[in-house]
This record gives sequence, C-alpha cells and structure tokens, in this order.
Amino acid sequence: LPAWLRHPCRLIRSSSRAMTVMPAWVIDKYGSNDVLRFTNNASFPVINYPNEVIVKVFAAGLNPLDVSMRGGYGSSTMAIKRDPMNIMQSGTEFPLILGRDVSGVIMECGLDVKYFKERDEVWAAIPPWKQGSLAEFVVLSANEISHKPKSMSHTEAAAIPYVATTAWSALVNTGGLRKDNCVKKRVLILGGSGGVGTFAIQMLKAWGAHVTVTCSHNAERFVRDLGADHVVDYTAGPVEEPLRLLEKFDLILDNIGGDTERWALGLLKPWTGAKYVTLVTPFLLNTDRLGIADGMMKTAATVATKAIKHLVKGVHYRWGFFAPSGPALDEIREMVDAGQIRAVVEETFSFSQVPQAFEKVEKGHARGKTVVEIS
Ligand code: NDP
Repeated sequence: LPAWLRHPCRLIRSSSRAMTVMPAWVIDKYGSNDVLRFTNNASFPVINYPNEVIVKVFAAGLNPLDVSMRGGYGSSTMAIKRDPMNIMQSGTEFPLILGRDVSGVIMECGLDVKYFKERDEVWAAIPPWKQGSLAEFVVLSANEISHKPKSMSHTEAAAIPYVATTAWSALVNTGGLRKDNCVKKRVLILGGSGGVGTFAIQMLKAWGAHVTVTCSHNAERFVRDLGADHVVDYTAGPVEEPLRLLEKFDLILDNIGGDTERWALGLLKPWTGAKYVTLVTPFLLNTDRLGIADGMMKTAATVATKAIKHLVKGVHYRWGFFAPSGPALDEIREMVDAGQIRAVVEETFSFSQVPQAFEKVEKGHARGKTVVEIS
C-alpha cells in the first residue's frame, strides 16, 4: 500500500485564525469540464496542525490525476483519508480544489515548523486528499514542502514536484535505484514523452543509467534531447518486437499499463533482482467500485498473485505510487540547480484559463507538463 494510506490523519485543534475567503477554481460535484467553477469566496486555508504552513500559490501544475479526480476517480479512498472515522456525510469534500503541484511563497508557519520561515520560496506535490493548488493559497505539512530551486521560475518549478516524487517513489523506493548504483544499469521507460517520463529520463541519465524509451514517432527527437540513449517508436507496430531484440533490462518503469504486463516482464534479466514497476494500477478503481474493505482485499490479492507468478520466473513485479516527500524534493532541487534536470513545460495558462488547461491535459499526447500561472 502507498505509505500515506497506512497513517490516517489525527484530528487536532482548529486554528484561531479568522476565517476569510480567497479566489479559487472549485468543483461542487464530479463530472466533465463544466463542473469547474471560479469563485472569489473559497474558504481561506487554516493551519490545523502545528507542523503546517500556508503557501501563497504562484504557479500550479496539472496532471492526468486532476482530470480523473474531477470525474470522481479515487473519491472513496480520498474520503477515508479526509475522514477516517467516517463521521461526515458524503459530499463534504465539496467545494473541492484540484491541482497537485505548487510553487509559491510561505505566508504563515505553524508553531512547530523549524526549517521554513515566512517568505521562503517553496515547491511541493500536494497529496490528493488535500485541497489543491488551483487557488490563491494552500495549506501543506512542512514535511511535504521543500525550498524551490533558485535556478527556476515558479512556472518551471510547478512542472516538477508531482511527477518527480512519483518517479522517485517508483524508481528509488520501489525500484531500488540510487545515484550510486545506476551506472551500467539498463532501464526501459514505457511512455517517455509525458510528465513522469520526461522527468525520469533526466534523473536516470544524471545517475549514469542507460535509458531506453518508448514514445510515438513525433516525440523521438524530444526524448533524445532529454538524454534518452535509445528510442523505440510504439506507433510503428507491436512495440514488444523491437524491444525483444535489445539486451535485457535491469528495471522497467511502466507509465502506460494495459496489455504491457503481458510482454514487458520477459524483457527483464532473470535471476538478477531485475524489477518491473508499473504506475498504472487498479487500486483506486477497485476501492471506487467495491468500497474500501473489498477493494483493498481485491487489490492485495491481485498484486500478490502477480508478484508470485513472476517471482518463479526470476523477476520482480511491483506497483509504484505517488508519495509526497519534501526530502525527495530537496535532493531533486540539488540536481536542478546543478543543471542536471530541467523543467519541461509544454504549455502555460493564466488563472482565468483553468478549464482550457484541463482540456489540454484531457486530450492526452503530453510532451511534458501543463502549468497554470496563478499570480
Ligand atoms: P502524461 O499524460 O503526461 O503522459 C503520458 C505519455 O504517454 C504521453 O506523452 C503519451 O503521448 C504517451 N503514450 C501514450 N500511449 C503510449 C504508448 N502506448 N507507448 C508509449 N507512450 C505512450 O502522463 P504522466 O506521465 O503524468 O503519467 C503517466 C501514467 O502514470 C498515467 O497513467 C498516470 O495516471 C500514472 N500515474 C500514476 C501514479 C500513481 O501514483 N500510481 C502517479 C502519477 C502518474 P502520445 O499519446 O502522443 O504517444
């Protein structure tokens, strides 16, 4: 299970700060793009825990998850995270603010916050059960934020945290890769041209890995410019055929899912600890459809069955999940400021154009990230 599900939050005191309002894009029900509503009267975030900070948002990154959450994806699991005792009625998440990436400036710190102070420039990936960054202000825990790279604008910085902490969780925590064990490792990224892929290519190249990427023909030059050593066009025919002709891999990061599991594990070096890590898992769909208890049971049974099936063939099957982490962003900031990783911003939108930004992400075919400039 992702770490954030194992530690449901505690209820503690409410801040004495006078409640006021702020501009934000909210949804009042799940649906398509027409549920997005701009308001000047969204609730101002409140510091409820002494380790929290309020951040003034300068730029917000969008992810495919925002489009899915707009439609209700993951709502059962998020409801349990927001209200572990299940004492609130359904629908109390509304008005819900989407947006998982933030770059901005700290406006206020809780009493226990030690490493940050007001006016610090920070970036963060916001956990999906919290109010998001498509607003003037957002509240976050100090362990979720990190000082923003000095070499980047807020717009560039907002393109990185969610995909970077996802790639970090999948490649480092689940895949076992580190900056000092990647040289000579062969890594295959299925789907290299989107948000996660463009970040993962750069991080793995900075660590010395040999990186093979699948993408469509018109993204080949784009991923090579980011450092990919070998590129395979998935639109030219069954992609597994050219991949089978290559030397086998130490790790596969799957950003695509679907039928890739049928053939991808056969591309790994058996009996060497090689791992296949997929980001496309049925976990939230199971809990949406079956409820939390049955959904988690089905999820556990599915992943255990698959892991055992592949273990007997000498390869490891794993699910990767986004994990919010200020410390991971600290390490990523060093790589950014050292010039090893750049932001790949495909398109920017103004705060008044949030529905157009969602339409862009929803169309797919991303070549990097979509960012909304808030102020
Ligand atoms: P994006 O939409 O940014 O990128 C997806 C990319 O894949 C696009 O560039 C698309 O371009 C390309 N693509 C589509 N089909 C194929 C294919 N068959 N082979 C190779 N490339 C293909 O998504 P993200 O990078 O943000 O996320 C990737 C996946 O990871 C998503 O499914 C997302 O839901 C999941 N994810 C899961 C998380 C978790 O916690 N488990 C966290 C974050 C992401 P084109 O169509 O033009 O080829």
